[in-house]
Amino acid sequence: MAQTKERPKPSLIPEYCKGCGRCIGVCARGCIAFSGEINHLTGIAPVVLDLEKCNACGLCIDTCPEPYGLLGLEQGLHFEPQDPAKLFGEKKGAAPVPVAIPGEKVALPKTEPMVIKGNYAAAIGAMLAGCRHMYGYPITPSSEGAELMAKFLPKLNGWYLQAVSEVATINHMYGTAGAGLPTMTFTSSPGFSLMVEGISYMIGAGLPAVIVNVMRGGPGLGNIAPEQADIKFACRGLGHGNTHAICLAPSTPQEVLDLSMDAFELAFKYRNPVIILVDGYLGQMTGKVNLPDHLVKPGIPEWAVYGDKSHRGNLISSIDLTEVDLEKRNERICAKYDSMKADARADSFMAGDAEILLVACNTPARISKGAVQDLRDMGIKAGLFRPITLWPFPVEQLKSVLPSVKQIVVVEASAGQLENELRLELNKAGVEKFPKMSHVRRMGGMLPQQADVVAHVKSIA
Ligand code: SF4
Ligand code: SF4
Repeated sequence: MAQTKERPKPSLIPEYCKGCGRCIGVCARGCIAFSGEINHLTGIAPVVLDLEKCNACGLCIDTCPEPYGLLGLEQGLHFEPQDPAKLFGEKKGAAPVPVAIPGEKVALPKTEPMVIKGNYAAAIGAMLAGCRHMYGYPITPSSEGAELMAKFLPKLNGWYLQAVSEVATINHMYGTAGAGLPTMTFTSSPGFSLMVEGISYMIGAGLPAVIVNVMRGGPGLGNIAPEQADIKFACRGLGHGNTHAICLAPSTPQEVLDLSMDAFELAFKYRNPVIILVDGYLGQMTGKVNLPDHLVKPGIPEWAVYGDKSHRGNLISSIDLTEVDLEKRNERICAKYDSMKADARADSFMAGDAEILLVACNTPARISKGAVQDLRDMGIKAGLFRPITLWPFPVEQLKSVLPSVKQIVVVEASAGQLENELRLELNKAGVEKFPKMSHVRRMGGMLPQQADVVAHVKSIA
């Protein structure tokens, strides 16, 4: 006669339970519930069992994703926290002092220029700067950047991950940046909005990263046409707390490539994210691009939580729970922001003797340059001032061209965000009497036109 064996009831090893609740869902007899009490060894609240009504169906054991979470009673194990000293022996000597592994520049042969889109130029610049870890959630009009990196990075021993969302993207970047590795993402305005909490965390923890925001029409979903409506956001609204980042505004595909290389250098120099603001037109526009004469093989900074012996003991954190400590961290961050002013950059065109100064960045700066040429042909002393860093704003460079200027005209594809930056920075720099200011603005995906700029300047000249 065949012998029957009783099925075992479940037993729980709380230290292996992650509190997912799957076992609760499958138990038809209501034998399992959340405990609400945190296990001091794991920091997680495991479930609790009451097996009075249990019929030993085994469903909870089968459904538990943890190999040692729920086991049959017969196989029940006891969890004994192990003393690391017994397992690995006593620690000998002091922990190693982390040492930076230096990066290096590798010379590149001269090549023919390429004709590529701004988005591709940013991706190529990032790869030449040594970025091998790109995370993203594709969004028009930035997607070509991610697309190119998805093709190339696996061949370069790198990593492209399409994250589940922009929130996940920025947090993947946090982890990679913590290991001291160059990391980046491409996004566009609504995606950028979703990333700001993570950017604030990265600023708090002092982590370098590059975020390319190919700006599109807003607010909200807006459209996929070019706008410059994230200037205020990038310069003044990078998440909660005392947050700023260097914000670069290229105006040609060549400059997109050059600045995306520089962005990594700046991000590591200051241990802070760097934002590259590209308008949707520039992201999609093709232009002639020369490759630089070198590429960068990045090293590992001293502070990185990298997996080698020297860096393993490092810790990245922005948790300062006492008021005194958090104030000190913010003072250090403010001092860092002040030092970033040394990297404020600008470009100008015929601004030396200009009486009417156009101020513009991104694609509107190209349009304005054409307008300056037209106006000079008409005998009007016009010039262009183009901030390359929108934050920190190159106010000292602007002040140096102001003496001859009688009027400023801000040309932009937003409702006045660049003009607001300009007024605020002049005011903060103590320039009380600045020239009369007017503007040529378009929004919603419309760009200011060269003829509109010329007509406006003629009307005020
Ligand atoms: S063995 Fe079956 S009845 Fe018993 S606790 Fe698990 S799911 Fe519930
Ligand atoms: S399924 Fe396993 S890990 Fe999830 S709550 Fe139940 S015992 Fe814990």
